[in-house]
Amino acid sequence: MVGKVERIRGKLFRSDENPLKKNYGNMKKGSKHTERAKQKIRENKLKNPIRYWLGKKRYFSKKWKENMRESKKGNQNARGAIRSEKFKKNARKISLKRWQNPNYRKYMSEFQKVGKNHPNWKGGITPINIKIRQSLESKLWQDSIFNRDCNYCQKCKENRISKLTAHHILNFAQFPELRFAIDNGITICRNCHKLFHHIYGRKNNTKEQIKEFLEL
Ligand SMILES: [Zn+2]
Ligand SMILES: [Zn+2]
Repeated sequence: MVGKVERIRGKLFRSDENPLKKNYGNMKKGSKHTERAKQKIRENKLKNPIRYWLGKKRYFSKKWKENMRESKKGNQNARGAIRSEKFKKNARKISLKRWQNPNYRKYMSEFQKVGKNHPNWKGGITPINIKIRQSLESKLWQDSIFNRDCNYCQKCKENRISKLTAHHILNFAQFPELRFAIDNGITICRNCHKLFHHIYGRKNNTKEQIKEFLEL
C-alpha cells in the first residue's frame, strides 16, 4: 500500500513514511495534556482556585444538550418554547385588547418604576455643572492614581492603559469625603477588579482586603 504524497516543510513524503506524522497528535487542538501539563494545572488550581474557576471553560456535551431539549419539550413557559400559530394569534389579540383600555395604559405607565415614577426620584437634582465638575475631578483623580502606580495593575502587572481602572479602597458610595483622596485609590486592571469584587463584594471594602488580595 502506498500512502498519499504530501509536501511537508518543502519536502515530499508519502504519508505512510512521514516522519512528522507520529507527532501530529501533540499539535492538534483537543489532544490530551501531557503529565507535566496536568501537574501544572493542578498546582495553579491550588494556588488560585477562584481564578481557575472563573477562567474555566464550560462545555456541555451533546447528550446533555439533547437531554435539556427533551426535558423542556411541551413546557410552554420554557425559554425558546415553540408556540403554535394559533397560540400566538390569541396572545396578540389579548395584548391588543388590553392596551386599548386607557386605564390599563395608565396603570402600566405608573407601574413601571423608572425616572419620575421611581420612589427615589428627587426631580433630577444634580445640576449639569456639578456633574461636569465631578466627572473632571474623577478623571484627574484616576490619572494621578495611575501616575503614582506607574500605569501598572498592582495585582497582575497589566500595563495597557485601556485595561486599567482605579479602584476605591474605601467605597465611593459610603465615603463621599474620600472620593478624590489619592490614598484611597489603587490601580488595578478590569479583570483583577472584577475578581476583587467577586471575592469581597461591593460594599464595606477595606484596606485589609486589598492587601490580602494583592498577596493572593
Ligand atoms: Zn490585573
Ligand atoms: Zn472597585
